[in-house]
Amino acid sequence: MSKFMFIENEWTDSSVGRSIEVYDPSTGNAIERVPYASREDVKRAVDAAQIAFKKGVWSKIPPADRANTILKVAQLLEERSEEFAQLESLNTGKSIRQCINYDIPYTIDNIRFIAGACRVLEGKAMQEYVSEGTSMVRREPIGVVGVITPWNYPLMMVAWRAFPALAMGNTVVVKPATYTPLTTLELARLMLAANVPKGVFNVITGPGPEVGEELAKHPNVDMIAFTGSTEVGRRLSELGSSTVKKVSLELGGKAPFIVFSDADIHAAAKGAVVAGLINNGQDCANSTRYYIHESIKEKYLHALNQELNRIIIGNPADFATDLGPLISETHRRRVESYIRKGIEEGGNVLRGGDRPSISGNEGGYFLSPTVIQTENHNSTIVKEEIFGPVFTILNFSEYDEVIEKSNSVIYGLGASVWTKDVTVAMRAIRDLRFGTVWVNDHIPVPSEMPWAGYKQSGHGSSLSQYSLEEFSYIKHAYIDISGETTKKWHSQVHGSSGKLSE
Ligand code: NAD
Repeated sequence: MSKFMFIENEWTDSSVGRSIEVYDPSTGNAIERVPYASREDVKRAVDAAQIAFKKGVWSKIPPADRANTILKVAQLLEERSEEFAQLESLNTGKSIRQCINYDIPYTIDNIRFIAGACRVLEGKAMQEYVSEGTSMVRREPIGVVGVITPWNYPLMMVAWRAFPALAMGNTVVVKPATYTPLTTLELARLMLAANVPKGVFNVITGPGPEVGEELAKHPNVDMIAFTGSTEVGRRLSELGSSTVKKVSLELGGKAPFIVFSDADIHAAAKGAVVAGLINNGQDCANSTRYYIHESIKEKYLHALNQELNRIIIGNPADFATDLGPLISETHRRRVESYIRKGIEEGGNVLRGGDRPSISGNEGGYFLSPTVIQTENHNSTIVKEEIFGPVFTILNFSEYDEVIEKSNSVIYGLGASVWTKDVTVAMRAIRDLRFGTVWVNDHIPVPSEMPWAGYKQSGHGSSLSQYSLEEFSYIKHAYIDISGETTKKWHSQVHGSSGKLSE
């Protein structure tokens, strides 16, 4: 089987006839081929998006019309949600249960919210801030947006980045991750069925260092919206700088999960397992560093162990499966090398670390949930993003100490605190340098709320009305209402009546 790219509402092969294979991580088998875009293909997609933008077929229509088209896409996605869930599960190895119950319905809600939100933009009151002129603020689209997405939530990340861009009137060229282009290409089919004008939504496929860089460098791309690793985010900042592009970055995370002595231990153990293993441990918000108050450490580890005993590792297509494989063999080796490093740097593996054998899925990239206890706060596994089912357990005794340790990494995406004491919770919300802080939970982000990073987790903003601001220019218009040839303020700088020239 073979799929095509989507440029100017047409299915397009690579102009140089190259293609790449796409795999099922639960078996290691190839399932599809997609085109390997050439420089010429990238140019064609950007040209199509630029022409569509300039014609105003999308950027200049009323927000209600854009919203209705986007709502139609959401409707079509809902009608085919089971099929999308299956494709996403097949291509990423995440459990079908997660795809059916969470990824796809949540993505639909994200899209519906943003469609409505573009109709209710808010801003400053139009007024005479200077007595002889009326000032108003406009929000306008930026132009052609290059959207580069990661493999961990392929469809959802398009919803988070391309849809606010579209809702604001921009046109987009999406480059999905090399491993996971399938649902993004299927989404293009829905765009076509919803009558999105040609050139407004384009998809090109191929490896990041070539195709992604080509897109990011292109002088006619006005903005890059990137979700992915901090390392690639740094590279895109550099690439964008030559044409002073707006580069919106949503990057890696290393979420602390702080359990105070008064916490509900069972809730915190259950919460840790769900937040640590969601998406097979490959979520930028995954809880990763577990700071447990020393007075409850033994009890907590016991409860955590019991919860982990219930986890079913297996074929992602099976509805009972909790934990599927990692995305690739390369990634599994990377996660394993972190586990080895954790041990070398003083950590003690309490469970896991092995490759479980799954009957019928022997070629899959499975890794058992792994718990490592360490007292070495400078260990690599405490500082770097592992992106796998690895729980690093640390302890603490004082509030200030745990906040300091939590904030001591380069990342600042999500964090959670577990306590019944409202004063401690409110102080922690203030003191933790992360874009989202949960109290007695970890993971949920409603479509209405922003998802944004601090520090090297990036500076983009997804979801909520803030994502519409992200994809727009702000324009001040000033209209003289005096009707005079010589305005009052002229004398401050010019002519014979100003103080300096008198
Ligand atoms: P990645 O950075 O390796 O790749 C992301 C995308 O960038 C892919 O499409 C890839 O092909 C492309 N790419 C790679 N090199 C490139 C280059 N030189 N120029 C242009 N494009 C290039 O990330 P990944 O491994 O796909 O995803 C995992 C990472 O994404 C993790 O770090 C995770 O925390 C992060 N992530 C962040 C968020 C968030 O909201 N902050 C959400 C999801 C994932």
